Amino acid sequence: MASPAAKWLKAKSDRAGRVEVGGDLRVAGHPNVFVIGDTAAVKDGAGRFVPGIAPAAKQMGKHVARTILSDIAGRTSMPFVYKDYGSLATIGRKAAVADFGRFTLSGFPAWLIWGIVHLGFLIGFRNRFTVMLDWGWAYFTHNRGARLITGSEM
Ligand SMILES: Cc1cc2nc3c(=O)[nH]c(=O)nc-3n(C[C@H](O)[C@H](O)[C@H](O)COP(=O)(O)OP(=O)(O)OC[C@H]3O[C@@H](n4cnc5c(N)ncnc54)[C@H](O)[C@@H]3O)c2cc1C
Repeated sequence: MASPAAKWLKAKSDRAGRVEVGGDLRVAGHPNVFVIGDTAAVKDGAGRFVPGIAPAAKQMGKHVARTILSDIAGRTSMPFVYKDYGSLATIGRKAAVADFGRFTLSGFPAWLIWGIVHLGFLIGFRNRFTVMLDWGWAYFTHNRGARLITGSEM
Protein backbone atom coordinates (compact mmCIF):
# COMPACT_ATOMS: atom_id res chain seq x y z
CA MET A 1 0.00 0.00 0.00
CA ALA A 2 1.31 3.45 -0.88
CA SER A 3 2.42 5.61 2.05
CA PRO A 4 0.68 8.98 2.65
CA ALA A 5 3.87 10.68 1.36
CA ALA A 6 3.79 8.66 -1.87
CA LYS A 7 0.08 9.42 -2.33
CA TRP A 8 0.57 13.12 -1.70
CA LEU A 9 3.47 13.30 -4.16
CA LYS A 10 1.61 11.04 -6.61
CA ALA A 11 4.86 9.06 -6.67
CA LYS A 12 5.34 5.36 -7.32
CA SER A 13 5.92 3.18 -4.27
CA ASP A 14 7.09 -0.39 -3.72
CA ARG A 15 5.19 -3.17 -1.94
CA ALA A 16 6.37 -1.86 1.44
CA GLY A 17 4.94 1.59 0.69
CA ARG A 18 8.37 3.16 0.25
CA VAL A 19 8.56 6.02 -2.23
CA GLU A 20 10.49 5.13 -5.38
CA VAL A 21 13.23 7.69 -5.93
CA GLY A 22 15.84 8.28 -8.61
CA GLY A 23 19.54 7.60 -8.22
CA ASP A 24 20.06 10.99 -6.55
CA LEU A 25 17.17 10.36 -4.12
CA ARG A 26 14.84 12.88 -5.78
CA VAL A 27 11.19 12.05 -6.43
CA ALA A 28 10.38 11.90 -10.14
CA GLY A 29 8.58 15.09 -11.18
CA HIS A 30 9.56 16.87 -7.95
CA PRO A 31 13.21 17.95 -8.33
CA ASN A 32 13.17 19.73 -4.97
CA VAL A 33 11.78 16.79 -3.02
CA PHE A 34 14.12 14.12 -1.64
CA VAL A 35 13.10 10.95 0.15
CA ILE A 36 15.60 9.18 2.40
CA GLY A 37 15.90 6.44 4.99
CA ASP A 38 13.18 3.91 5.63
CA THR A 39 10.72 5.78 3.42
CA ALA A 40 12.90 5.56 0.28
CA ALA A 41 12.98 2.70 -2.22
CA VAL A 42 16.33 3.10 -3.93
CA LYS A 43 18.57 0.52 -5.58
CA ASP A 44 22.30 0.08 -5.03
CA GLY A 45 24.88 -0.41 -7.79
CA ALA A 46 24.05 -4.13 -7.98
CA GLY A 47 20.34 -3.44 -8.55
CA ARG A 48 19.26 -4.52 -5.05
CA PHE A 49 17.11 -2.32 -2.85
CA VAL A 50 19.14 -0.50 -0.19
CA PRO A 51 18.10 -2.04 3.15
CA GLY A 52 16.04 -0.13 5.72
CA ILE A 53 18.77 0.19 8.31
CA ALA A 54 20.30 3.10 10.21
CA PRO A 55 23.65 3.31 8.33
CA ALA A 56 21.78 3.52 5.01
CA ALA A 57 19.53 6.31 6.37
CA LYS A 58 22.58 8.24 7.63
CA GLN A 59 24.40 7.87 4.31
CA MET A 60 21.33 9.09 2.42
CA GLY A 61 21.02 12.10 4.73
CA LYS A 62 24.63 13.09 4.09
CA HIS A 63 24.21 12.56 0.37
CA VAL A 64 21.14 14.79 0.17
CA ALA A 65 22.92 17.53 2.16
CA ARG A 66 25.78 17.40 -0.37
CA THR A 67 23.31 17.38 -3.29
CA ILE A 68 21.50 20.49 -1.99
CA LEU A 69 24.86 22.29 -1.62
CA SER A 70 25.74 21.23 -5.19
CA ASP A 71 22.37 22.56 -6.45
CA ILE A 72 22.98 25.91 -4.74
CA ALA A 73 26.48 26.09 -6.24
CA GLY A 74 25.09 25.17 -9.68
CA ARG A 75 27.08 21.93 -9.85
CA THR A 76 25.80 18.59 -11.18
CA SER A 77 24.65 16.24 -8.42
CA MET A 78 26.11 12.76 -8.06
CA PRO A 79 24.05 9.56 -7.74
CA PHE A 80 23.74 8.00 -4.29
CA VAL A 81 26.10 5.06 -3.73
CA TYR A 82 25.35 2.86 -0.71
CA LYS A 83 28.42 1.62 1.16
CA ASP A 84 27.72 -1.65 2.95
CA TYR A 85 30.01 -1.87 5.97
CA GLY A 86 28.50 -5.18 7.08
CA SER A 87 25.64 -6.46 9.18
CA LEU A 88 25.27 -7.05 12.89
CA ALA A 89 22.24 -8.53 14.62
CA THR A 90 21.71 -9.63 18.19
CA ILE A 91 20.02 -13.02 18.46
CA GLY A 92 19.98 -13.64 22.19
CA ARG A 93 21.18 -12.66 25.65
CA LYS A 94 24.85 -13.18 24.85
CA ALA A 95 24.76 -13.99 21.17
CA ALA A 96 24.86 -12.07 17.94
CA VAL A 97 25.83 -12.64 14.33
CA ALA A 98 28.19 -10.43 12.38
CA ASP A 99 28.88 -10.42 8.66
CA PHE A 100 31.63 -8.06 7.52
CA GLY A 101 31.94 -9.52 4.03
CA ARG A 102 35.50 -10.77 4.43
CA PHE A 103 34.73 -12.55 7.69
CA THR A 104 31.78 -13.59 9.80
CA LEU A 105 31.45 -14.03 13.55
CA SER A 106 28.81 -15.44 15.83
CA GLY A 107 28.09 -15.98 19.51
CA PHE A 108 29.63 -13.99 22.35
CA PRO A 109 32.43 -12.19 20.40
CA ALA A 110 29.86 -10.94 17.86
CA TRP A 111 27.59 -9.84 20.74
CA LEU A 112 30.43 -7.80 22.27
CA ILE A 113 31.14 -6.13 18.92
CA TRP A 114 27.40 -5.49 18.44
CA GLY A 115 27.24 -3.71 21.81
CA ILE A 116 30.39 -1.64 21.24
CA VAL A 117 29.32 -0.61 17.73
CA HIS A 118 25.81 0.40 18.83
CA LEU A 119 27.06 2.44 21.77
CA GLY A 120 29.75 4.00 19.58
CA PHE A 121 27.22 5.26 17.05
CA LEU A 122 25.00 6.97 19.64
CA ILE A 123 25.38 10.73 19.83
CA GLY A 124 26.84 12.13 23.04
CA PHE A 125 28.03 10.71 26.34
CA ARG A 126 24.61 11.13 28.01
CA ASN A 127 22.87 8.88 25.45
CA ARG A 128 25.62 6.26 25.64
CA PHE A 129 25.52 6.24 29.43
CA THR A 130 21.70 6.00 29.56
CA VAL A 131 21.61 3.15 27.04
CA MET A 132 24.41 1.31 28.90
CA LEU A 133 22.46 1.62 32.17
CA ASP A 134 19.30 0.44 30.43
CA TRP A 135 21.05 -2.57 28.90
CA GLY A 136 22.75 -3.39 32.22
CA TRP A 137 19.39 -3.27 34.01
CA ALA A 138 17.73 -5.46 31.37
CA TYR A 139 20.65 -7.92 31.44
CA PHE A 140 20.80 -8.44 35.20
CA THR A 141 17.06 -8.30 35.87
CA HIS A 142 16.04 -10.27 32.74
CA ASN A 143 13.58 -7.47 32.08
CA ARG A 144 12.74 -6.49 28.52
CA GLY A 145 12.95 -2.83 27.58
CA ALA A 146 9.75 -2.93 25.55
CA ARG A 147 6.52 -4.87 25.80
CA LEU A 148 3.98 -5.52 23.08
CA ILE A 149 0.37 -5.02 24.14
CA THR A 150 -1.72 -6.97 21.68
CA GLY A 151 -5.19 -6.96 23.19
CA SER A 152 -7.32 -5.96 26.14
CA GLU A 153 -8.31 -8.16 29.06
CA MET A 154 -11.86 -6.92 29.40
C1 LIG B 1 12.83 -2.59 16.53
C2 LIG B 1 13.81 -2.08 15.52
C3 LIG B 1 15.14 -2.44 15.62
C4 LIG B 1 16.06 -1.97 14.70
N1 LIG B 1 17.36 -2.34 14.83
C5 LIG B 1 18.27 -1.86 13.97
C6 LIG B 1 19.64 -2.19 14.12
O1 LIG B 1 20.04 -2.92 15.02
N2 LIG B 1 20.52 -1.67 13.23
C7 LIG B 1 20.11 -0.84 12.22
O2 LIG B 1 20.96 -0.36 11.47
N3 LIG B 1 18.81 -0.51 12.05
C8 LIG B 1 17.88 -1.00 12.90
N4 LIG B 1 16.57 -0.67 12.73
C9 LIG B 1 16.17 0.15 11.58
C10 LIG B 1 16.49 1.61 11.85
O3 LIG B 1 15.90 2.02 13.08
C11 LIG B 1 15.94 2.46 10.71
O4 LIG B 1 16.39 1.95 9.47
C12 LIG B 1 16.38 3.90 10.81
O5 LIG B 1 15.99 4.45 12.06
C13 LIG B 1 15.74 4.71 9.67
O6 LIG B 1 15.99 6.06 9.87
P1 LIG B 1 14.95 7.13 9.33
O7 LIG B 1 15.59 8.46 9.60
O8 LIG B 1 14.53 6.79 7.96
O9 LIG B 1 13.64 6.95 10.23
P2 LIG B 1 13.45 7.12 11.78
O10 LIG B 1 14.71 6.85 12.53
O11 LIG B 1 12.23 6.30 12.09
O12 LIG B 1 13.15 8.66 11.95
C14 LIG B 1 11.96 9.23 11.52
C15 LIG B 1 11.63 10.36 12.48
O13 LIG B 1 10.56 11.12 11.95
C16 LIG B 1 9.66 11.38 12.98
N5 LIG B 1 8.35 11.59 12.37
C17 LIG B 1 7.50 10.67 11.89
N6 LIG B 1 6.40 11.25 11.39
C18 LIG B 1 6.58 12.58 11.55
C19 LIG B 1 5.80 13.71 11.23
N7 LIG B 1 4.62 13.60 10.62
N8 LIG B 1 6.29 14.92 11.53
C20 LIG B 1 7.51 15.05 12.12
N9 LIG B 1 8.29 14.01 12.45
C21 LIG B 1 7.83 12.79 12.16
C22 LIG B 1 9.71 10.18 13.90
O14 LIG B 1 9.28 10.49 15.19
C23 LIG B 1 11.21 9.87 13.87
O15 LIG B 1 11.93 10.56 14.84
C24 LIG B 1 15.63 -1.12 13.64
C25 LIG B 1 14.28 -0.75 13.55
C26 LIG B 1 13.38 -1.23 14.47
C27 LIG B 1 11.94 -0.82 14.34
